[in-house]
Amino acid sequence: MSSQKVAIVTGAARGIGAGVAKRLAADGLAVAVLDLDADACAATVSAITEAGGKAIAVGADVSNEESVNAAVATIVEKLGPPTVVVNNAGIIRDNMLFKMTVDDWDAVMAVHLRGAFNVTKAAQKHMVDAGWGRIVNLSSTSALGNRGQANYSAAKAGMQGFTKTLAIELGKFGVTANAIAPGFIETEMTAATAERVGVPFEDFKKAAASQIPVNRTGVPEDIAHTASFFISEGAGFVSGQVVYVAGGPKD
Ligand code: NAP
Repeated sequence: MSSQKVAIVTGAARGIGAGVAKRLAADGLAVAVLDLDADACAATVSAITEAGGKAIAVGADVSNEESVNAAVATIVEKLGPPTVVVNNAGIIRDNMLFKMTVDDWDAVMAVHLRGAFNVTKAAQKHMVDAGWGRIVNLSSTSALGNRGQANYSAAKAGMQGFTKTLAIELGKFGVTANAIAPGFIETEMTAATAERVGVPFEDFKKAAASQIPVNRTGVPEDIAHTASFFISEGAGFVSGQVVYVAGGPKD
């Protein structure tokens, strides 16, 4: 088995996950590009391989334990034991509380929280065996509260508690766990929000940028850069942290 480290990036067919997968591959890791539909991962995988990196497409529903366990077994077989996990897969089911259904609540919890739990649990054995590992969880500025996102903000705050507990439990095995809490990042997710509120995406971005201290909206590469730091060798003493990558301070 080669000494190349193996990373799993969930929700990596597009958006932030695709950006993170490409960056980790450029950093020298072999990347399992995991998403609901393996075919949808083709663009990310070919971008990586065309740039000289190593990647495979893996189809799995992170909210389903069996699906995740099967995916991790395939990754071990094809790439080797994963020691880096980026829990990025996510969905939104926004609505004001009085209109939010139990299905809206459960779907968001299932993908973000159960999904991160399933993937981390399946991969942690390999990190513990290796005596080294890096876990990066995607939170959000919505963890601080956001109108229309009772489900999502609860899940994203939950990701922070999950991260801190992983840091405490797995630290002695050489494993760090950190969270990235992005602000406004230009992806299909924010495009969908613009559509829901009935504003053209360009106008929505401009309005958001005017409220952001660095005067622009974020792009997946902004998050990928932070993930690259967290998974680096030199970041081994940084664990249990939440970094807001939002173009300005958040607390
Ligand atoms: P996105 O463009 O909607 O991409 C999310 C990806 O996750 C999609 O490819 C989606 O697949 C996949 N996915 C959804 N459910 C899944 C499941 N059960 N199993 C496996 N994959 C699944 O979203 P994004 O904007 O890149 O967001 C990525 C992460 O960052 C999310 O956790 C999000 O909450 C967080 N975040 C985003 C922003 C932002 O401004 N964009 C801000 C803060 C935090 P399908 O296409 O098949 O649905």
